[in-house]
Amino acid sequence: MKFTGKSKFRELIPQPKSRFLQVRCPECGNVQMIFSHASTLVKCLVCGRVLAYPTGGKARIEARILKTI
Ligand SMILES: [Zn+2]
Repeated sequence: MKFTGKSKFRELIPQPKSRFLQVRCPECGNVQMIFSHASTLVKCLVCGRVLAYPTGGKARIEARILKTI
C-alpha cells in the first residue's frame, strides 16, 4: 500500500479553545478586548453597547472581530 502526499487538513481546523478577541464596537468604533467565553454580558467601555452575550459556552459576539489573540 502506498500513500501519496500528506493530509494537512487537520492543521486548518482552529482549536475551540477560549481566547481573547479584539473587537470593534459597531456603535462608536471603540476597540477593546473581550474574552471569547465570557460568562457575563460584555459592554462597550465607551458607549455601553452590549458586545458579547454569554451562552454557557462560547459567547455570542455582537461586534466585528478584528483579531484573535
Ligand atoms: Zn461603543
